[in-house]
Amino acid sequence: MLVDVKCLNCSSDLSYEPGTTTLICAHCEHEMEIEHASVKRAANEELDLDAYLDNFSECHEQIEALTVQCDSCGAATEFGSEVKATHCAFCDTPLVLSRMENHKRVKPQGIIPFQIKRDEAIRHFGVWVKKLSLAPNDLKKHAGKAERFQGIYIPYWTYDCDTVTDYLGQKGTNYQESVTVTKADGSTETKSEHKTRWVYVSGSVAQNFDDVLIPATRSVEKELLHKLEPWNLARIVDYNDHYLQGYQAETYQVNIKEGYVDAKIRMQERIKETIEREIGGDKQIISESQSVYSNATFKHLILPIWVSSYRYKNKVYQVLVNAQTGEVNGEYPKSPFKVAFAALMVLGMAAAIVYCYEQIGK
Ligand SMILES: [Zn+2]
Ligand SMILES: [Zn+2]
Repeated sequence: MLVDVKCLNCSSDLSYEPGTTTLICAHCEHEMEIEHASVKRAANEELDLDAYLDNFSECHEQIEALTVQCDSCGAATEFGSEVKATHCAFCDTPLVLSRMENHKRVKPQGIIPFQIKRDEAIRHFGVWVKKLSLAPNDLKKHAGKAERFQGIYIPYWTYDCDTVTDYLGQKGTNYQESVTVTKADGSTETKSEHKTRWVYVSGSVAQNFDDVLIPATRSVEKELLHKLEPWNLARIVDYNDHYLQGYQAETYQVNIKEGYVDAKIRMQERIKETIEREIGGDKQIISESQSVYSNATFKHLILPIWVSSYRYKNKVYQVLVNAQTGEVNGEYPKSPFKVAFAALMVLGMAAAIVYCYEQIGK
């Protein structure tokens, strides 16, 4: 059961104060220090993946929490005390709070507590929105409302893994060749042509991965979340209920097995780069590669994000703010007028360039 500590002074709800190790009373400002706030025992412990792959939820410690599920997007969100949300943070659909019930879920090993307060997050959003040249002018009014920004801990998996990859491919080296062509009038002309010489190559690369971060949510696009990186994972501390007071936490929807599949895709992107570097030359082709993964370990973490889901002309868009670093990323509508104007500008520029060339040619 989520510990719900009340103010010792006035019994009001306490919420976690970003960037500190204290809970604070919104009513009388009484502060309470969180015990063992900076312990990093479980947070640093890597669990052997093979041992948990098929039965993670059974063999890991469970906690019970008041959770409500969104009918529209399916996100299951746990509410800390002091949370007044009435709409789903991810899709802006009204939540039926009367349907809130106690749900068991796996206790995360580590947490990065909120570092950035709501008003700072909105400030970062304001800077971001100013740089969007194609967004409608009234976007800030729609998305930037303070009450829209909800503080949520998003579930993640991280994987460590050793890999060895055998590959077959080709290495291309560029060179120039002089070619003599005979024209229709019988005269000859020598031209230099760019060509590539290919040789077959094979080899093996070893690469060790540390903390490959995979979102365990389906409520936010993976790409949106990846663009909030990097996280400073050195700042992770042991999970503690108190950090959730005043915030929401989403239950994971991507299980440990599915997360590992995603992690392999991310690892393969980096392995491909390593192989291409090893092949060398000017161009590379990888025709076949086979990876062996070993010593895989994992951790289950929750990371803090401010989410604003807003409707614009009946479509829902999400803006996210990394509540550790202030990095902003989001979706936004493109103003048809501004898009058309930008296209006209490009056409205008092209016409101007053509005109200049013609003038020079005369
Ligand atoms: Zn109080
Ligand atoms: Zn929803």
